[in-house]
Amino acid sequence: MERAYIKIFDTTLRDGEQSPGCSMNVQEKLRLAHQLDRLGVDVIEAGFPIASDGDCAAVQAIAATIRRPAIAGLARACREDIERAWQAVRGAARPRIHIFLATSDIHLQYKLKISRQQCLEQAHDSVRLAKSLCGDVEFSPEDATRTDHEFLYQALDAVVEAGATTLNIPDTVGYSMPEEYGELIRGIRRRTGDEITISAHCHNDLGLAVANSLAAIAAGARQVECTINGIGERAGNAALEEIVMALRVRPDRYPYETGVISEQLFPASHLLSELTDAPVQANKAITGRNAFAHEAGIHQDGMLKNPLTYEIMTPHSVGVPDSRLVLGKHSGRHALGLRCEQLGFQFDRRQLDDIYRRFVVLADKIKHVEEHHLLELIQSELNQDGGGATGHTPSRHTQATYFQRTTPATLIAEHNLPRPADHPEPEDYLWGV
Ligand SMILES: [Zn+2]
Repeated sequence: MERAYIKIFDTTLRDGEQSPGCSMNVQEKLRLAHQLDRLGVDVIEAGFPIASDGDCAAVQAIAATIRRPAIAGLARACREDIERAWQAVRGAARPRIHIFLATSDIHLQYKLKISRQQCLEQAHDSVRLAKSLCGDVEFSPEDATRTDHEFLYQALDAVVEAGATTLNIPDTVGYSMPEEYGELIRGIRRRTGDEITISAHCHNDLGLAVANSLAAIAAGARQVECTINGIGERAGNAALEEIVMALRVRPDRYPYETGVISEQLFPASHLLSELTDAPVQANKAITGRNAFAHEAGIHQDGMLKNPLTYEIMTPHSVGVPDSRLVLGKHSGRHALGLRCEQLGFQFDRRQLDDIYRRFVVLADKIKHVEEHHLLELIQSELNQDGGGATGHTPSRHTQATYFQRTTPATLIAEHNLPRPADHPEPEDYLWGV
């Protein structure tokens, strides 16, 4: 069966970066954008250019450098915002202007103080202006899930008429239930032609952002807006890695494809966490340090006999570093480069040589180079290169080895578990690497 393609619209650098404690400077945003490119996302929402000169500069830099995905800039529905957004994204290979305007009565009345009729006109005119600048225009009726349905349809009709090609339906306040959100998307899908892409944008105030996004996909949405580690306003946005892996692990229920390279999920999560100094909660699905840890004896026993007893995906499939790859003085450049990549840092030949020289000196003094040592070497390389990581030091949580998954070999030794009798290489058997 042919699987429908779901575009992954990453808004880590916009909605995510807006959340408390997650702000990044231009160089940090650029570094994350490179990783999002390697991850294979379809659209990077790089920022909200009118918000600050720094935001605008970051969007411009990303648009000039990252050429494969579409680069979107956010704008309110007014001339100044739209022109600034265009100025920021126009250098991109595939620029997109994303306009939002609230449509719920509560927002119209108390926040914008405009009538429904004024809202329709403003939405239409702003999309028309954006369309005169940029072929790819997305429109979001903010607080769509609390908007009267008939009025929402009118607003969407108005912006489609003005040239919008993606209609994003934000559950701005994280209020929707999955069936309800699915019905809303289905209703909109029925009214629009195939040339219009319906998009989901869900917040996690009730812990339902991913469930709502999946319900939207099943109802006909072909783009989902999400963030790495689910960062975002308040309780966050839908977590990109969770949506992608739900589709990957359950194609029987969700026969859809994305362009995401799942092995790049952990490096992306780790890099974001490093850049923002915001640790990922230990039990976070997919990327938390306990996501693949098995401690209960009965689980360990089952895992040793057959990993499928308790494992629905391998750590390897989401890019969790192989903890058996010990870095010591006998490790080569290749192993060192690979471990840097697993942590979300890519270096050119010269930089890697530089790190390697210092690594060898360190490895001569201490037996095993732990992750926090490596992060210090990486950081000093970035600082020395003027890589813009000014004042940034590896965050506290990396002072201990980030991923302390017990390997099967040590499980056996420490817990005196029986070796699987029928397999000579339990480690390879278990972790599929
Ligand atoms: Zn949002």
